[in-house]
Amino acid sequence: MLNEYVYCPRLAYLEWVQGEWAHSADTVEGRHVHRRVDRRSGTPPPAGGGASSQGESERESEDEAGPEAPERIHVRSMELSSTTLGLVAKLDLAEFEGRRAVPVDYKRGKRPHVPAGAYDPERVQLCVQGLLLEEHGHEAPEGVLYFAASRERVRVPFDEALRLATREAAAGLRRMAEGGAIPPPLENSPKCPRCSLAPICLPDEVHFLRAGGAPPRPLAVAQTPALPMYVQSRGAKVAKSGELLEVSIEDEKVLSARLIDVSQLVLQGGVYLTTPALHELMSREIPVTWLSHGGWFLGHTVGLGHKNVELRSAQYRASFDEAFCLRLAKVLVVAKIRNQRTLLRRNW
Ligand code: SF4
Repeated sequence: MLNEYVYCPRLAYLEWVQGEWAHSADTVEGRHVHRRVDRRSGTPPPAGGGASSQGESERESEDEAGPEAPERIHVRSMELSSTTLGLVAKLDLAEFEGRRAVPVDYKRGKRPHVPAGAYDPERVQLCVQGLLLEEHGHEAPEGVLYFAASRERVRVPFDEALRLATREAAAGLRRMAEGGAIPPPLENSPKCPRCSLAPICLPDEVHFLRAGGAPPRPLAVAQTPALPMYVQSRGAKVAKSGELLEVSIEDEKVLSARLIDVSQLVLQGGVYLTTPALHELMSREIPVTWLSHGGWFLGHTVGLGHKNVELRSAQYRASFDEAFCLRLAKVLVVAKIRNQRTLLRRNW
């Protein structure tokens, strides 16, 4: 989270304090790049450079490292924490050689051509890993950023300036979270259009409403072509098969739909939904609506949903304000009537 804090404090607040998250093409690609390093493997050697006791680590052979070189041990997806530092990190890869440990962090893009070799958020994130390795008794004078698109390794020395910036960022993030006030958005920043949380943060809109000025830049709104899926046949069974929802009647498959194409599952009457299918729907935040045989609404099954505690508390408080509730209800009714009018005029 220190990476996000250094990139933009508001981004860190949205993600860490309010529990907001949204995918973008960049985050999906980043997850793809991490798929190998996210697989845990290897055991770190004890501090001081001894051999790993459990012998599960990936070791370089003598041919690779040379007969005189100390054994190099690779450990992937290693979690480290320290109560002294108040930090926790998951290392993509750590290379151990004697007393020395080098954290390696994978990045999906190309190496930026900047004097420090990489941008501050990535350098600070890597330095956290170095500090944690030192806290666990290893020597970590530098780390490596591996840029997958250009296949380049960039060395990042953990000098005093970077260590200080990292500690200050950690303290700043903690202060910000305890303060309980979301920082203002960046102003007209080139970071915002690529930020996956821009549609939640609404930086230009917030500034525009607060102080006027330049109108908001248009957002590229994601398309959502998914549609509701209705199952009405008595005795039908809805099950998950890979990325599909399959409907069968008396064990004969009658229909299937891709999960990404389903926005909501509506089950009418005696339709049977399997537990794995229900788990998948809940984890994807696809609601299931249960109706009686006659089509009367019985209830919803939904996943954990939105985790923004501050927003939930504000909504709960507002629900006791009668004037606010009336205003909100009026706005909803007006919007519904306007939408219906638009649809009628468009289609008839
Ligand atoms: S959209 Fe801009 S201001 Fe908002 S969180 Fe992202 S980077 Fe920060």
